[in-house]
Amino acid sequence: MEHLHASEAQRVILESVTTRGTESVKLEQSLGRVLAIAISANRDLPPYDVSAMDGFALRSADVANAPSTLKIIEDIKAGDMPSKTVLPGQCARIMTGAPMPQGADAVIRVEDTQEVSASSVQIGKTVKPGNDIRLQGEGMKDGEIVLQAGTEITPGVIGVLATVKAARFEVYRRPRVAILSTGNELEGMEEQVDPNKIPNSNSYALMAQVQALGIEPVLLGIARDDPLELEKYLRRGLDFDVLLVSGGTSVGVHDYVRPTIEKLGVEMKFWRVAIRPGHPLAFGSTVTTAVFGLPGNPVSSMVCFEEFVIPALRRMMGNPRLYRRTVMARLGHPVKFRPGRTEFIRVQLTHDAEGYVASSTGSQSSGALMSMAKADGLLVVPSDSTGLAAGERVTVQLLDGTVFQDEMGFRE
Ligand code: AMP
Ligand code: MG
Repeated sequence: MEHLHASEAQRVILESVTTRGTESVKLEQSLGRVLAIAISANRDLPPYDVSAMDGFALRSADVANAPSTLKIIEDIKAGDMPSKTVLPGQCARIMTGAPMPQGADAVIRVEDTQEVSASSVQIGKTVKPGNDIRLQGEGMKDGEIVLQAGTEITPGVIGVLATVKAARFEVYRRPRVAILSTGNELEGMEEQVDPNKIPNSNSYALMAQVQALGIEPVLLGIARDDPLELEKYLRRGLDFDVLLVSGGTSVGVHDYVRPTIEKLGVEMKFWRVAIRPGHPLAFGSTVTTAVFGLPGNPVSSMVCFEEFVIPALRRMMGNPRLYRRTVMARLGHPVKFRPGRTEFIRVQLTHDAEGYVASSTGSQSSGALMSMAKADGLLVVPSDSTGLAAGERVTVQLLDGTVFQDEMGFRE
């Protein structure tokens, strides 16, 4: 089989996966899920015209020649209903969110006033009609759609759902994900340290990558490089929506993963992608299960997850947003490059007056897991690049969403 371009591999994967039905969840358990239905407002908010400030509700015509002194006829707190109509020469003390009284057409904030006595106030400024009033239905109108299906549930979305009293609603199901590591050399977490063995880190790094999407994966353990044992484990894995197999997809004579999954009826869609790290990536599917044959090298496994598994899982969760956020950065040092494959360099970001600077996290060997542990992002070197000079502008896929203090947009 030919090496696929990274974008072709992504397309093949995305064409093979879809959502897995919907389920009802409680509001409190819905963070990170994706709405399967549109949500409508169940009332006008605010329910009537309210004050946007602590101040005085008045008739704007009364203060056309400010300063002018008005008589305070009542106090309206949030939650109160006004009982009087504001007549010429009068005003009502009003709190933020309290309903506007009849007769008044504007609010002036308390900072622009001076109380003359307990029952009168001097207004220092003119105000336009409608000043500092939040109109009925300005936030949402009864019956209008406030959230579309396909919306990822963020804290802001939770606030809107709570506002319309959506205590339970339909979201897309999360795919069930299984993780299997393969290799005779691997030492399980619970095993004694044997200096001749390689600790199984991939199962756990992949677990965490899956958890970061809000999915709790099942770890199937370690299968030896033995076709029969592998078959037994892979059968279990095919009960899931997504099976991630680490190792054994390469060209070694004991790399049994591809032939064994094919034997179990998985249709192989591709093997080998023109990327670095991670080129032995394999992908196949049955009617029910998407199977990723991830390279065993710890960095390759994680990078392939980032580039190919995340978009698939997000699509399966009903999220129209499939990819990581990227930033533009300047390269801190030159990068040598052989064109023909897309490369993902693990970088740390710093920030200066001109923006981000991306620098390699150290050894870029596909076995050097430290390069991943230290990384803020993956610098993408496009497949047609012939090398990058220091200072060149590059795209960095962010591995998390945090920022530096000096880029917050605040000014002293
Ligand atoms: P493979 O893809 O099976 O040829 O493995 C490539 C390299 O990755 C070998 O050096 C393996 O020891 C290493 N490796 C494979 N699986 C794991 C794992 N689960 N955890 C850590 N390293 C692994
Ligand atoms: Mg192996």
